[in-house]
Amino acid sequence: MAKPILVANWKNHPGSLAEARILLGKLSRNSRLYKKLSLFIAPPLPYLELTSLRSKSFARLASQDMPSQSDGTHTGMITPDILKSFGVRLSIIGHSERRALGETNETVSQKVRIALRSGIAPLICVGELSRDRDGEHFEFLRDELKTSLAGLSRQATGKVAIAYEPVWAIGKHARDAMVSADLSQTVIFIKKVLTDMFGRATAERIPILYGGSVEPNNVLALSRETSIRGFLVGHASLNAKSFQNIAESLVKY
Ligand code: 13P
Repeated sequence: MAKPILVANWKNHPGSLAEARILLGKLSRNSRLYKKLSLFIAPPLPYLELTSLRSKSFARLASQDMPSQSDGTHTGMITPDILKSFGVRLSIIGHSERRALGETNETVSQKVRIALRSGIAPLICVGELSRDRDGEHFEFLRDELKTSLAGLSRQATGKVAIAYEPVWAIGKHARDAMVSADLSQTVIFIKKVLTDMFGRATAERIPILYGGSVEPNNVLALSRETSIRGFLVGHASLNAKSFQNIAESLVKY
């Protein structure tokens, strides 16, 4: 079976290069554990080089976003080639914190194509803002998936992964995260939408990760009781001990 996927989304932390160095030093003490997973670290851009050097033996590099332009001259932007030159292999695309700044499903779709053209695997984030009893959040999810993955060939989907991150569950504690029963149901729904788009065999191959207040004390239940293939972890990835505990649970499971 494929290794569980664990993606550390550091967002805009730690607060300095020196702190990033300390965190990487602590993580590297558990390199044997992390090698049992498919681990990616997505640091702030200025820490890419340091992260690439210090985590080479146990993790691969991810970016927290993908540029929406691959050529031309754009002050303040970077290119997919720059990301690649640092060794970035995966790109988080359409994170809700970027969508909150105005990113649309259409932009996400454009970035997904740019990532694929550049040989970087897109990790496409979807997730409802809130849940309601009528299940309208499922329609919202369907729209996000259909537009963000529109026009991809079956072959291209071989490089794509989905991160289901319900916005209401982000940045809280384990007790506020999604419960396994709801996550299971949502994963089935996502697979159904992917099956309608690409056929069953292709849909089954697309890994679905969960993100939103993943912590040491909920990760085991969420992996054991659902068909999730991995996790996208925010705040708990900045604490070496918490992250180690999360990885241990995944390996044990
Ligand atoms: P938290 O794990 O802090 O809830 O963040 C989740 C997230 O947004 C990861 O991309």
